[in-house]
Amino acid sequence: MSFINEKIAGIRKLLDELETEARLENEEGFQQRFSPLDIPDIIKDIVDYLMPILSPYEVAFYWYVFRHAIIGTGTQHVRISTRGMQHGVVNSIHSRDTNSKISLSQVRNVLGSMEAKGVIRKDGEANRDGTLYRVMIPEEIEDCRISMLEHQKIESKPVYAEKEVDFYNIRENRLQIYERDQYKCQYCGKQLTRFSATLDHIIPVTEGGENTYDNLTTACLSCNSQKNRRPVGDFLADVNSTPEETKKR
Ligand SMILES: [Zn+2]
Repeated sequence: MSFINEKIAGIRKLLDELETEARLENEEGFQQRFSPLDIPDIIKDIVDYLMPILSPYEVAFYWYVFRHAIIGTGTQHVRISTRGMQHGVVNSIHSRDTNSKISLSQVRNVLGSMEAKGVIRKDGEANRDGTLYRVMIPEEIEDCRISMLEHQKIESKPVYAEKEVDFYNIRENRLQIYERDQYKCQYCGKQLTRFSATLDHIIPVTEGGENTYDNLTTACLSCNSQKNRRPVGDFLADVNSTPEETKKR
């Protein structure tokens, strides 16, 4: 009897694991589109926009989880245990002794305030390796998006006037469009990252639309492929209609 119970428990555990894996795989964006080439740009954004809103401990914790998630596995997920964070990250601010660890309650405080700032997000149940967190990148963090937008207004306005600048094929320019649109799909409002965002031509290329700042807009993959070559007006009417309205037709 206990043998059967053990087997059932084993199967349950396996199902749980499969469920978590399937959920993470389904999550739009990062896994499939992640490119190591984007890491320098992300680091630039972290230093420019994220670090100014973090405390010294939060900065240390962020680089730790960044290294273990994005650099380590190429995904935005990592398991964090309070004990692991106490020993593996950084020494206490209040001591010159190299072995003076920060307290467990301080670790919890730092994790809590990072969560409150939207820098990390609990994304699964705890197991013996810790709690599953999603490490957010700057474009997913509200305060970072606001300062990106401010920065754009001040720094790079004149460049948009130049018609010949290609905002579609040049990677840094694509990022400028995403930043202008705050990494949100301009059709359905979904929050995106540089990995899940796509650029949509407002006037399609087939109708003479160009790769200019004004003719490009941020769209999620699903809106982009649904819109295809249809005029923006028609498409928006469809996106904005509720499911009920669609049924009545
Ligand atoms: Zn969309």
